[in-house]
Amino acid sequence: MEYRHPEIANVAKQLKARLKQTQDKKAVLRAPELLALIERIKTLPVGKRATFGKEVNLLKAELEKLVRESLFPKPSTLTPIDVTAPFDTNLSAEDRPKLLPAENGSRHPLMTELELILDIFARMGFTAVESRELDDDWHMFGSLNFPPGHPARDDYDTFVTDEELVAPAHTSTMQNRVLKAGKKQLDQGQPIAVVIPGRTFRNEDVDASHEHTFYQLEGVYVAKGIHAGNLAATIKAWLSNYYGREIEIKIQPFYFPFTEPSFEFAASCPFCDKKGCSVCKHSGWIELGGCGMIHPNVLKEAGIDAVKYSGFAWGFGIDRLVMLKYGIEDIRHFHSGNLKFLRQFT
Ligand SMILES: [Zn+2]
Repeated sequence: MEYRHPEIANVAKQLKARLKQTQDKKAVLRAPELLALIERIKTLPVGKRATFGKEVNLLKAELEKLVRESLFPKPSTLTPIDVTAPFDTNLSAEDRPKLLPAENGSRHPLMTELELILDIFARMGFTAVESRELDDDWHMFGSLNFPPGHPARDDYDTFVTDEELVAPAHTSTMQNRVLKAGKKQLDQGQPIAVVIPGRTFRNEDVDASHEHTFYQLEGVYVAKGIHAGNLAATIKAWLSNYYGREIEIKIQPFYFPFTEPSFEFAASCPFCDKKGCSVCKHSGWIELGGCGMIHPNVLKEAGIDAVKYSGFAWGFGIDRLVMLKYGIEDIRHFHSGNLKFLRQFT
């Protein structure tokens, strides 16, 4: 571009040369020469101000464009790499394999086990509803008896988007929807019996037993006259089914805002029958999740008569269950994409 004001033309020449040499490309946009020109605009007599100002702005726009182009070269100038290629893409055309091995992939162990678990619940009369991977604050907390500012919200280390949407930290984010959808069933004398599998997200420090992304399975059951004994029996029945042997259940008091009373539940170790082994850290018991009787406020929020009906809910981590079943020592294997790990489950 040609600049008519000699002063501007001079700065343009200097800064374009600097842009080629410097590593910090953006610094050119803050160059004192450019800032001085911008400052000059104000000091000029009104008659000259417009044309001078216009050229300074043109220079600024041109420099911004040049900086952008130097930072982000046009895609067409780069040779595309197929990152999914099953061979080294640096190989020359003649060295690339002519035929590729036709090895079969495998289902992910989490999906295989999840299907098995859903199958057990289907036989127990539960329908499955998938959770979601983005939700709003009201479903994640408000509908579950966590008013804004409730201290228990801090326990969930929730990811929030710029638009104030949340990446659900528990599958309970679906409870209100499931309860509302099942309300009609209750009036017809049918219970609400739903399991909700889904991916959940927490801002965890990742290590061998903690991941930021993991699977949960929520269970919701509502009918007339339901009590904590039904809850314990349901969990016991499905776990015994899953591990293919009689499992004992232990529940102990805990606190969640959305259940009252709330419990943590542990299962007798399926590997040593409570004698103690490395899997259960020699305690004979394995903690599996939280559960409780659905808080009346949660039922009311979904329009269900909390005097007439009661119910229970639970949530447990699927990853942990699968780790226990197969003796997987590190939760990070699941999302590693490591084929050696995955092929053990073919
Ligand atoms: Zn054990």
